Amino acid sequence: MDANIHPGRVTLTQLPTPVEPLDRLSDWLDGPRLLIKRDDLTGLALGGNKTRKLEYLLHDARQQRARALLTTGAVQSNHCRQTAAAAAKTGMECVLVLAGERPTAASGNLLLDHLFGAEIVWCSREARDDTLERTYRAAQAAGRRPYLIPYGGSNPIGAAAYAAALRELMDQGVRPDWIVFASSSGGTQAGLLAGARRHRFPGQILGISVDEPATILKPRIAALATGTLRLLETADDRIEPSFAPEDVRVNDEYVGAGYGRPAEGEREAIQAFSHLEGILLDPVYTGRAAAGLIGLARQGFFGKEDTVLFWHTGGTPALFSESYRAFLLSAGDNEDQD
Ligand SMILES: *Cc1c(COP(=O)(O)O)cnc(C)c1O
Repeated sequence: MDANIHPGRVTLTQLPTPVEPLDRLSDWLDGPRLLIKRDDLTGLALGGNKTRKLEYLLHDARQQRARALLTTGAVQSNHCRQTAAAAAKTGMECVLVLAGERPTAASGNLLLDHLFGAEIVWCSREARDDTLERTYRAAQAAGRRPYLIPYGGSNPIGAAAYAAALRELMDQGVRPDWIVFASSSGGTQAGLLAGARRHRFPGQILGISVDEPATILKPRIAALATGTLRLLETADDRIEPSFAPEDVRVNDEYVGAGYGRPAEGEREAIQAFSHLEGILLDPVYTGRAAAGLIGLARQGFFGKEDTVLFWHTGGTPALFSESYRAFLLSAGDNEDQD
């Protein structure tokens, strides 16, 4: 698509993902005009934003002649599920370090991790980084040639995928005033920011924090966006080489009780998108980001004439996790449900 975009990539996705109007949702909110970018339809194993990043990360892994992918995440990690699927598709082994309590029965993303043949190492949240390090060294010692993918696939190589994704959106002829989405490990936002500067995108990029305060997320994303831009730079580029935390827009007013603990806002957002548009959101990421979108629209944060694009980042399998069953059943307005 863009000859200057490097590093290289392997193909795991079916791009471009569609952009669709959300007319019924826009009417319900009485403006602004809403669009959605369907990265829940990236194509591999129920979709999501990590598959874009994995195309670049797997290319790097292959260059290093790695034979196993190693990464980490929460029990219902979408990133781990997409990594396991990418490993299966490319004939690599996959080792997942899952941090949290091991459930009695596998459901949602965890069920899919098993289907894709991933090897799972369990640990507590506190022991995550140590366990990852130890597992990496053990795999190396065993001659498995492991390739370590950071949390969320968020390093400059992974984030570069979202610089390309922003270019993809512009090539679709879409120039929204705002792009709104769920931000967590920050690679998606860093890549979008790098792409926006590189391709002179005129709109605003607003991440809704899923777990961390903006004071932590903004400098992290600024550093990652800077690293991403450096990676993408070519000799004839005349772009500002760095980002400051003030260049990063993050709203952290929707984190509520924290990661993986959805409440009323997520419930309303999941219900609105499903009832009005037939689109599924997840309880952890996109439900929270959409709660932010709805809340901000009601406060009049966006202009009535603005076009706001909600970038759907995936997460669908978490809907089928036992852990969110009670929450989702109460999301219907059907009084018969408990
Ligand atoms: C990982 C993830 C995000 C957050 O993306 P980051 O690049 O980690 O900020 C958002 N939505 C879903 C569904 C995810 O799995």
